[in-house]
Amino acid sequence: MIIVLKSHSSLKEVKTVEKAVRDLGYDPHTIRGVVRTVVAAVGDETSHQSLEILESLNCVERVIPIQKRYKLVSREAQPGTTQIKVGPLTIGGGTFHVIAGPCSVESMEQMLAIAKAVKAAGATLLRGGVFKPRTSPYDFQGLGIEGLAILKAAKQAVGLPIVSEITRQTDLNSMLDVVDVLQIGARNAMNYSLLEAVAKSGKPVLLKRGMASTVEEWLLAAEYIAKNGNPNVILCERGIRTFENATRNTLDISAVALAKQECNLPVFVDPSHAAGRRDLIPALSKAAIATGADGLMIEVHNHPEEALSDSSQQLTPQKFAQLIKSLAPLLKASDMKIGKVK
Ligand code: PEP
Ligand code: MN
Repeated sequence: MIIVLKSHSSLKEVKTVEKAVRDLGYDPHTIRGVVRTVVAAVGDETSHQSLEILESLNCVERVIPIQKRYKLVSREAQPGTTQIKVGPLTIGGGTFHVIAGPCSVESMEQMLAIAKAVKAAGATLLRGGVFKPRTSPYDFQGLGIEGLAILKAAKQAVGLPIVSEITRQTDLNSMLDVVDVLQIGARNAMNYSLLEAVAKSGKPVLLKRGMASTVEEWLLAAEYIAKNGNPNVILCERGIRTFENATRNTLDISAVALAKQECNLPVFVDPSHAAGRRDLIPALSKAAIATGADGLMIEVHNHPEEALSDSSQQLTPQKFAQLIKSLAPLLKASDMKIGKVK
């Protein structure tokens, strides 16, 4: 960190800053210029208190971090938002996109019915998990390869690009043929060998935030993908685990604002996994737009009460259509175009 003092600071003020730096556990190295003095604070920021509090000293003009741990995905490296081509769509270019579909692909009938309904309501990408990372080994684990054939049929039927979660590297080749965006789930957000493998595939990636990942860890996970040659990463905030248990997770809306500010990647919000209950999804979706999100991921099921996973958070197609309609005025107010697929 570099602490820049206000111009013509006195020796006494310099000494005050040096002491404050030392008190926080860093080593001050002072450079006195004719007009301005800067103090470089040397030390490991991760194990000491942040130096940013020094900005509250009257004689300090600014505290500047020398470097962020993530580079390629930072706004410093590239000020504009990365635009990601997915089939006919561009994500991150000022057009708002909604990924919708069931938590799990369950059958051909289910998937086709939902695909048609979400497309008619305005979704521009279709989701559906075939490899399901379930907390209990006794719960439905997804249809696997058989589910991929269903996703392929749904894609052909409605023409929406497909988003589906990859849980292990060995499934990559079979997914590449069908899936347009590889989803990395919250449970794999720190599976660095999987991140490297999806990066090398060159496919766009939807990177969920880990349920216990800090914003920095989330952005560093994105950096893994970018560093391995794939800049096409969409961040997705899906709630983090906190002490609160009225909702499944806590939607960290500040993280969305921060990711938009610090990082050049498009940011989506998944209110379904954040809330874990369908009644809160409209409110959280609106909050996402107000915070500057580039899109949403929403779970929709034609018979939520019979869903094989996440039944309490999936919207019916009717409720989904109502929700999409209700977002239009907010999108207009946010200067976002509404995504469309013919
Ligand atoms: C999902 O999208 O179905 C899913 C499992 O999400 P997450 O990884 O956010 O829990
Ligand atoms: Mn789910």
